[in-house]
Amino acid sequence: MRNVVLLGPPGAGKGTVASRLVQELGFLHVSTGDMLREEVAKGTPLGQLAQGYMTRGELVPDEVILTLVRQRVDAKKGVLFDGFPRTVAQAEGLERFTTVDVVVLLELERDEVVRRLSSRRICGACGAVYNLVTHPPVEPGRCDRCGGALILRDDDRPEVVARRFEVYMRDSAPLVAYYEGRGILRRVRAEGPPAEVFRAVAEALR
Ligand code: ADP
Ligand code: AMP
Repeated sequence: MRNVVLLGPPGAGKGTVASRLVQELGFLHVSTGDMLREEVAKGTPLGQLAQGYMTRGELVPDEVILTLVRQRVDAKKGVLFDGFPRTVAQAEGLERFTTVDVVVLLELERDEVVRRLSSRRICGACGAVYNLVTHPPVEPGRCDRCGGALILRDDDRPEVVARRFEVYMRDSAPLVAYYEGRGILRRVRAEGPPAEVFRAVAEALR
């Protein structure tokens, strides 16, 4: 099994593609955003530390993230990293405990990112991701999977989305050249419907 990184701006559709890749190809899904939101919900010391960074749209410090990821990675299973690494320092840290075989970059313009995030809703109970426009739940405001109430993420408010995009361009976009230099980057256009994006990503992983 190979280790794969899903890279791309916030709202490009990483989580959406990841959940299908995990179902169909059996990866271990490591989403640092989901892990941090769980810590926040449980009110752990780590969650309390992370919450301020997250609501401002800033990155949580590299050492905190690397400790979190290292605990989760299982050498026996291919891992799908989603939303990690987000800095070159994180990428270097990751290389110290496992290899990365393929990096898929989901490319999407800023306007479409903003559109997708303003209409994103997540289940407050299980974290499932919906979109009021492109992927609404069957019953308005209720999660199809567990019946939980759908909420707007704190960091999907317009002013925070703008900040997250800036942070992506400053801190995470350099990872494109970093992985290109290692010859493992594959680019995928992320603007089509989810099924199309999934097919293109699955193709890139062959
Ligand atoms: P990321 O994990 O990259 O932040 P998400 O997977 O949460 O992105 O997707 C952001 C929003 O866009 C969600 O509301 C999701 O339902 C929606 N979405 C994801 N992929 C697509 C797509 N291909 N077309 C339209 N909407 C999408
Ligand atoms: P995401 O769910 O991937 O959009 O992440 C939500 C928020 O969690 C980000 O805006 C950051 O504040 C934090 N976060 C998630 N992953 C990382 C990471 N790899 N490095 C630093 N901060 C992260």
